[in-house]
Amino acid sequence: MDRTRFELGEDRIPRAFYNIAADLPSPPPPPLNPGTGQPIGPQDLAPLFPMELIKQVVSTDREIEIPDPVRDAYALYRPSPLIRAHRLEKALDTPAHIYYKYEGVSAPGSHKPNTAIAQAFYAQQEGVKRFATETGAGQWGSALAFAGALFGIEVKVYMVRASYDQKPYRRILMETYGAQVVASPSPDTHYGQSLLAENTGHPGSLGVAISEAIEDTVTHPGTKYSLGSVFDFVLLHQTVIGQEAIEQMAMAGEEPDVIIACVGGGSNFAGLAFPFIGRQLRGEASYRVIAVEPEAAPSLTRGRYEYDFGDTGEMAPLVKMHTLGHNFVPPPIHAGGLRYHGMAPLVSKLVDDGIVEARAVHQNATFEAGLRFARTEGIVPAPESNHAIRVAIDEALEAKAEGRQRTILFNLSGHGHFDLAAYESYLAGKLEDFEYVPVELKEAVAA
Ligand SMILES: *Cc1c(COP(=O)(O)O)cnc(C)c1O
Repeated sequence: MDRTRFELGEDRIPRAFYNIAADLPSPPPPPLNPGTGQPIGPQDLAPLFPMELIKQVVSTDREIEIPDPVRDAYALYRPSPLIRAHRLEKALDTPAHIYYKYEGVSAPGSHKPNTAIAQAFYAQQEGVKRFATETGAGQWGSALAFAGALFGIEVKVYMVRASYDQKPYRRILMETYGAQVVASPSPDTHYGQSLLAENTGHPGSLGVAISEAIEDTVTHPGTKYSLGSVFDFVLLHQTVIGQEAIEQMAMAGEEPDVIIACVGGGSNFAGLAFPFIGRQLRGEASYRVIAVEPEAAPSLTRGRYEYDFGDTGEMAPLVKMHTLGHNFVPPPIHAGGLRYHGMAPLVSKLVDDGIVEARAVHQNATFEAGLRFARTEGIVPAPESNHAIRVAIDEALEAKAEGRQRTILFNLSGHGHFDLAAYESYLAGKLEDFEYVPVELKEAVAA
């Protein structure tokens, strides 16, 4: 019998995060202070983040040790399994071998606790009492609420109004873990109040919620800001995924030809891909690496590579990234985790350098792939993960057309148990494919 699961024991939880800065030919351009336009220093970030995280951002050490209490908490769900998709391969009648790393085994159901746990630990070490954060669909909010519960830190979540109304179960999960959740824009910040004064029914956006969480942080002593993607240290913490996957692919006796993950801010992609890309940068191997984004918010394939704000209120640092503009509000696709106007600067740099390939896919095509996956492998994927599955299937079908073996590895970043309403819409034929409309065009139409 061909093996299906490749499992590692608890003792194989990685002992260090992999820092790609050590292997990059040149560093990405530095983040800039929004007030002065000068490169930001540790003192600019100190009000927002624990010092240890700031140190990690400037470090060029290849390995950054993972503290034991973090590894102990990871042991609740790590190492995550690597699974060979035998049944999907058979259904596609492809000579390709398809493997997926399954991050839906964490309690909140995605890869996000990998960084939430690390951030909560460092904060606790430095005496932080409370976190303020934003969440779109609620996955990040539930990951931080979970980590806050483990390390005794209060969590306040600004949840995008549209999701708050449409997705009550994620909110209830956060509250079950002990977090306080408000709809954003909220009356709890000046920025939120100003938006509500203009429009009491403001639907909110991730960019708005980030601005509220930052304002909350700087106005509440003992509070730090926490975020679940985009920043270098978030990507760093996620590299436990790829390090485990390297070991598990070796157990399977294969090297991937293609590595695939979806991208919203870029963290699950970086988590799986960076340890492999590091090998490539050191001349030890060579891979095709594909980042998959939604057609509705196509920052890598249609955005500009330039300095932009990470948030709508222009409070976050300016970073050089692929961006659709910080005023871009993505259409209401169900993959809430992919509705962001920008991209992690490290991922943007690798795309700009030609090391990573980017592809954009439409919503219905991703659900078609997700359904095929559910009906062969049994796991109902998160709508975000369906983007990776779409391209994994396309790669497997291409291998079939060429009559050649190809080894495909993708990240199944989470399960879709809280997203069944999205599947219901798809099954009823009611899902829309949104075309990308640039901000300039929208403004021209409105004028
Ligand atoms: C949040 C989320 C994403 C998108 O975030 P990245 O930082 O791009 O990984 C993808 N998949 C799932 C399941 C998520 O929860």
